[in-house]
Amino acid sequence: MSTECLFCRIVERTLPATVVHETETVLAFRDIDPKAPTHVLVIPKEHHADAATMASADPALAGEVLAVAGEVAKLDGVDASGYRLVFNTGSDGQQTVFHAHCHVLGGRGMTWPPG
Ligand code: 5GP
Ligand code: ZN
Repeated sequence: MSTECLFCRIVERTLPATVVHETETVLAFRDIDPKAPTHVLVIPKEHHADAATMASADPALAGEVLAVAGEVAKLDGVDASGYRLVFNTGSDGQQTVFHAHCHVLGGRGMTWPPG
């Protein structure tokens, strides 16, 4: 775990965040700059650079991240209306934090194609 990494610092609780759900391996907290009424980031507590890297290294952990994303949607009451799960990856994917994270976006209608 690297303290250079913003999300590792949130896991270590040396950087504050509004945590909405937590398991032994996964943490979910509200995005600091929300793009929808529900905008929660679901991350593995262990550092992996992006979603595919995480899934290759530990498929079960990737499954736990998805399961928690579904739980978060239920907790925020957007499971029935629907929501979007996003894993931005790399430069063209507009990834800005290189610790794997699933965006859970909901509470409004989404557009397609994404920008
Ligand atoms: P990415 O652009 O890598 O897909 O997503 C990174 C997300 O992290 C962005 O939506 C950004 O608003 C969020 N973010 C960046 N810094 C912080 C922070 O310190 N706290 C929280 N809660 N979210 C952050
Ligand atoms: Zn990290």
